[in-house]
Amino acid sequence: MNKIKVSIAFTFLILTFANGHSQSKSENPNFIIILADDLGYGDVGFTGSTQIKTPHIDALASGGVVFSDGYVSAPVCAPSRAGLITGRNQVNFGYDNNLSEPLPQFNKEYSGLPIEEKTIADRLSELGYVNGIIGKWHLGEEEQFHPLERGFDEFWGYLGGGHNYFQTEFKGAKYDRPIISNYKKPQSITYLTDDKGDECVDFIRRHRDEPFFLYASFNAPHAPMQATEADLKLYAHIKDEKRRTYAAMVHRLDVNIGRMIKELKTQDIHDNTVIVFLSDNGGPDTNNGSINAPFNGRKGILLEGGIRVPFVLSYPEKLKSGVYDKAVTSLDLAPTFVALAGGEITKNDNFDGVNLFPYLINQGTENPHETLMWRFTISAGIRKGNWKLVRLPDRLPLLYNLDKDPSEQNNVASENNDLVQSMLKELGNWDVSTPHILFLEGSKWRRNQLDLYDKSYQLEQPKN
Ligand code: CA
Repeated sequence: MNKIKVSIAFTFLILTFANGHSQSKSENPNFIIILADDLGYGDVGFTGSTQIKTPHIDALASGGVVFSDGYVSAPVCAPSRAGLITGRNQVNFGYDNNLSEPLPQFNKEYSGLPIEEKTIADRLSELGYVNGIIGKWHLGEEEQFHPLERGFDEFWGYLGGGHNYFQTEFKGAKYDRPIISNYKKPQSITYLTDDKGDECVDFIRRHRDEPFFLYASFNAPHAPMQATEADLKLYAHIKDEKRRTYAAMVHRLDVNIGRMIKELKTQDIHDNTVIVFLSDNGGPDTNNGSINAPFNGRKGILLEGGIRVPFVLSYPEKLKSGVYDKAVTSLDLAPTFVALAGGEITKNDNFDGVNLFPYLINQGTENPHETLMWRFTISAGIRKGNWKLVRLPDRLPLLYNLDKDPSEQNNVASENNDLVQSMLKELGNWDVSTPHILFLEGSKWRRNQLDLYDKSYQLEQPKN
């Protein structure tokens, strides 16, 4: 078996209905998305880290379904989140780029998730759910893009892409902005990941008796690299300061995920809650000290290290634990949640994701996706079966066989000319059929991304 080995020693698994009795206080399941930010693929225990200890995330993985081939729809924060929250490939509505100060030729009124697009929260609201977001939004800062305008009932967090982890005096810098909330006067920050954990636990407690959706949008381990002294001590043996800080930040994320799961159990709603854990994109390598081993590449590019992420879905009442090894995407979450909440999915929804539940219950030979496609500024990519092609502006297309070569070390394009042509055609046909983009980042990022394809990345776990 050449598939990437997920380090939990699962046997070959057939996912069937588990026999657990319903603990539900409401009939429909609750949903929690726990989103890590810029987490390296190889930096949690269940994906192979030996250096960073993540017992709570690993417990979630060993009790849930691990997606060995789980992708996000973009290799950077904002477009990945736009796809995740809508179930639509964000390129299909022009959200190709990260949000930044709009260039003069673009209208800032359109710098955000288009108001025509429905979020998971919009859809679950219609089905009687209460929806909360704790943490990072990053889908637009204009009034019309505010989470409370996008189906969420509760918000505690910030609209931008990052935040200082410790309390700072508000001077208007981008990571300094005040925490905003519509249900309380925000407390001053102790350590941001802990404060988010507090809010998530409080949300679970307050809404235990009704169906809820909690979008736990953690910022860890995204920059700025800031950790508590106590957590840094746990990793004092790591010489590189950035890596040490990163490890401490991941540890604190793990602790708070443990607190959330404990609260679900205390409230007796754990088995009837669908918990999804994933990262919004691959680790940015030396920028934050992350490692995407065994995958090549990093945040910002379409090699596996940019888009394949640690990805778990836990639903103890209905799904047995195991590894699901067919390609799935974060775009699948919206339709899966809608279906599990009793909603109907029609063609008009224009989902690019699919309801995964039938695939997880009847683990047959059918794939949820024959083809997955990505486009990100200068790059585009397509996966068909185990073949993966990446198209760049300054070279011939790259082709990898992910079954034999998951680390994308051997470009086999020249030996597979017909395949390259057909994959390029499918990718190109989609590319030219998409609408114009809504906003752009500065042009320096194009150069920056291209250069990232020529670098070497750490493909193995560090020794200690
Ligand atoms: Ca990110």
